[in-house]
Amino acid sequence: MIKMTIIGSSSMDLVVTASKRPNKGETILGESFKTVPGGKGANQAVAAARLGAEVYMVGCVGDDEFGEQIVNNFTSNGVFTTYVKPVTHSGTGTAHITLADGDNSIIVVKGANNYVTPDLVEKALGVIRESDIVLIQQEIPEETVEYVTEICFANDVPLLLNPAPARPISKTVIEKATYITPNEGEASVLFENKDIHEALKWFPNKLLVTEGKNGVRYYDGENEILVPAYPVDAVDTTGAGDTFNAAFAVAVAEGKSIEDSIRFANRAASLSVTKFGAQGGMPTREEVEGNL
Ligand code: ADP
Repeated sequence: MIKMTIIGSSSMDLVVTASKRPNKGETILGESFKTVPGGKGANQAVAAARLGAEVYMVGCVGDDEFGEQIVNNFTSNGVFTTYVKPVTHSGTGTAHITLADGDNSIIVVKGANNYVTPDLVEKALGVIRESDIVLIQQEIPEETVEYVTEICFANDVPLLLNPAPARPISKTVIEKATYITPNEGEASVLFENKDIHEALKWFPNKLLVTEGKNGVRYYDGENEILVPAYPVDAVDTTGAGDTFNAAFAVAVAEGKSIEDSIRFANRAASLSVTKFGAQGGMPTREEVEGNL
């Protein structure tokens, strides 16, 4: 069993469905409401645990009911919460999601995720050093991403940076991260709209660009390779990228080649889009292997 540390956000998604979106100043009646655990860090942790990794989450929740539910959700999915810290000066992060007209609008309140600081990461240094791979995303402070990159590099621990949501990244982070996995939109922010085929060549076997239902592109040092996605009837693509990242990290840490790891992760992510919700559709190891 491989050991993995995930440093990132946890939040509660508050999801309303309605026949339309309210205009400014307008009140309308919605159709349904539910709360589901989310946040890129938490989603990736749950996905990796379902795929059979020993997962340690490093994150923050508020000292409130949402925080408690998030910790219970980690525990019931087998994610270790020793380094999930409840903070008293901020509420749990939330995402306020309206589903209307076949599309979503989202307001994110980062809340406790602002406190995923280098100090907190330092407490988890022991488990990070023992990890086969570390995963990080960008819903936490930039200085934390920089700190994690440095300690992984110094300790020779592979680091997968999922640069989402998009923001420019320092050259040092790009150089020192082992894998970087933007989707197409994030890649164009990262490389300031430069030709993506060029960018792939600068980072052989490091930069993996996910292209939704088309699959994933990377450069192996000689050729650009597109590993195709698996065709499925997509119901909800929320969390597809999170499942991809977790599954790729599990496979590559287990020693599979990059191409085989992408194939495994594409399979996991394609299964996840056939069910509703980010975590709702994340498959188990048996489900992925049964479908390879
Ligand atoms: P993100 O969710 O971060 O925007 P993508 O949309 O690129 O990322 O999706 C990540 C991965 O999920 C893809 O590389 C692919 O493996 C899988 N995926 C996403 N959408 C589909 C789809 N409609 N059909 C099959 N697989 C999909």
